[in-house]
Amino acid sequence: MASSNDVDVIVLGSGAGGLTAALAAAQSGARVALYEKADLLGGSTAISGGVPWMPLNHHQDELGIEDSRDEALTYLKALSLDRMDPAMAEAFIDGSRDTVKWLEDSTDLEFSIIPMYPDYHPEHPGGKPHGGRSLDPGLFSYDKLGEWKTKVAKSRRSAHLKITDTTLGGGTGFLDPETQKHREENDLRGCGAGLVGPIIKALLDLGVNLNVNAQATDLLIEDGRVSGVRVSVDGVEQTVRARKGVVLATGGFEWNPDLVRSFLRGPMTSPAGVPTNTGDGLLMAMRAGASLGNMAQAWWVPTVEIPGDVAFGQQRANLVNRERTLPGSIFVNGKGKRFTNEASNYNALGGAFHQLDSTDFSYVNLPCWLIFDGRNARTYGSFGTPPGQPIADWITRAPSARALAEKIDVDPDELEHTIDRWNGFVARGDDKDFGRGKSAYDRWSGDGNYRFTVESTLGPIDEAPFYAVRVHSGTLGTSGGPRTDTRGRVLDTTGAVIPGLYAAGNVAAAPTAMAYGGAGGTLGPIMVFGRYAGTAAATD
Ligand SMILES: Cc1cc2nc3c(=O)[nH]c(=O)nc-3n(C[C@H](O)[C@H](O)[C@H](O)COP(=O)(O)OP(=O)(O)OC[C@H]3O[C@@H](n4cnc5c(N)ncnc54)[C@H](O)[C@@H]3O)c2cc1C
Repeated sequence: MASSNDVDVIVLGSGAGGLTAALAAAQSGARVALYEKADLLGGSTAISGGVPWMPLNHHQDELGIEDSRDEALTYLKALSLDRMDPAMAEAFIDGSRDTVKWLEDSTDLEFSIIPMYPDYHPEHPGGKPHGGRSLDPGLFSYDKLGEWKTKVAKSRRSAHLKITDTTLGGGTGFLDPETQKHREENDLRGCGAGLVGPIIKALLDLGVNLNVNAQATDLLIEDGRVSGVRVSVDGVEQTVRARKGVVLATGGFEWNPDLVRSFLRGPMTSPAGVPTNTGDGLLMAMRAGASLGNMAQAWWVPTVEIPGDVAFGQQRANLVNRERTLPGSIFVNGKGKRFTNEASNYNALGGAFHQLDSTDFSYVNLPCWLIFDGRNARTYGSFGTPPGQPIADWITRAPSARALAEKIDVDPDELEHTIDRWNGFVARGDDKDFGRGKSAYDRWSGDGNYRFTVESTLGPIDEAPFYAVRVHSGTLGTSGGPRTDTRGRVLDTTGAVIPGLYAAGNVAAAPTAMAYGGAGGTLGPIMVFGRYAGTAAATD
């Protein structure tokens, strides 16, 4: 029987996947209700860098940047280690340009190309060493959201930063006081908040019914068709029917320890996104008979956990991007050895953390320590401490490398040898072990004064005190879940469409599988497929 809250399309989750799906569905004429489990909208997207990676976007034309379907596909294929479904990758690339235009036409978003931001493996065929595919969503005044202004997740660190101000985007993470004041007074938010704010405004303008504190608990399946959801709104159970379809956009399962243990290919102890991402949508899809894909994968990232630093009621996982790339810093494992190019992209570093020693059957590179010296700390600051300020007390320090090694339970001879060897490479400008500084990408996040040279990332470790910070194997979000077709329709284990069920974002099997093309490698495909799923749900 129809009830007053029945709609055409139900969207579960309010990150990039859910917001774009809701926008597309509403624009197709559907009556849409969106349910968000947390008390704030935006999910991990709102606290993210907010950068989408969009090959062939029209801003490239304005700057004379050349790109092609072939290049983008060849590049993704080269990064996918044969795990990617070519049809899904093609659907992403084919929808990329239109999706950027659509978002700009439908919302207050005005993207711009982040100048010179290289792809993450720019020397692979089809890669772009000078950027052009990673977009900045710009700043958005939350004053435009009226009463919803306080109902969107906000990053304490990056809310008022543009991506180019952040360490992820090659900045320092700090604003000059005048700019900071101006942005705070006008509630101008950038990064992920700058991405979700304009879409939320467009949804409000279109009359989409937005609900927070609204956790979907199960799908309603009638006559073989997904026809609605059971949802707990402010603790009150309800059944809501969807005449056309339900879009799962509930994010990954990174905060569900059982699912993490069951599925991920290696240790992941430090999720960086919102803690409400507990795999609810994945479990609902499994109960509905969905086929699963890409389950062992996540968007990997090394993190640092600062004691007492809490976000959304949980220990915050701080991404380590700049600190591991700056001159005068290296990673070592528990044996005191370097094991990777520290400046390579964060997603690729997951592989280094998952390396298993078959003899003693342990993870070779966990624990991992970031080691840096006094010059590095003084010049660049560290983990929230601006340059020139005293380094925070929680960071382990010692007057010599040997003494530091003893404090972190690493062989002192080995650590000394590792640092000597590193300093030798630095003197010759050539990291013979791991090639740090060779790729255009390695030179991006380091010292901006030397941006396009190896000096941006190679520097000696030779000035006391010596510092060590424990680094964790973390994730931006998992990337496996129900398989969909190229329109975002969820497939069952026979490959048939499950009528009425759609999925987009980290809840679903990522269209690019393990390929992370460049900054925005998750949000780009998520927004393209969010649009597909919302359109299909409204029009099928
Ligand atoms: C610090 C940080 C920086 C990042 N920077 C970038 C970047 O610049 N570019 C990039 O491409 N990627 C970035 N990422 C990754 C990116 O944020 C995620 O991949 C992306 O936001 C996932 O979008 P989503 O819509 O799938 O999920 P989310 O944005 O996480 O949204 C999922 C939502 O679903 C809700 N939900 C969960 N269960 C239920 C339920 N049962 N009922 C209703 N709602 C539910 C959750 O509460 C959540 O709000 C970053 C991540 C982090 C943590």
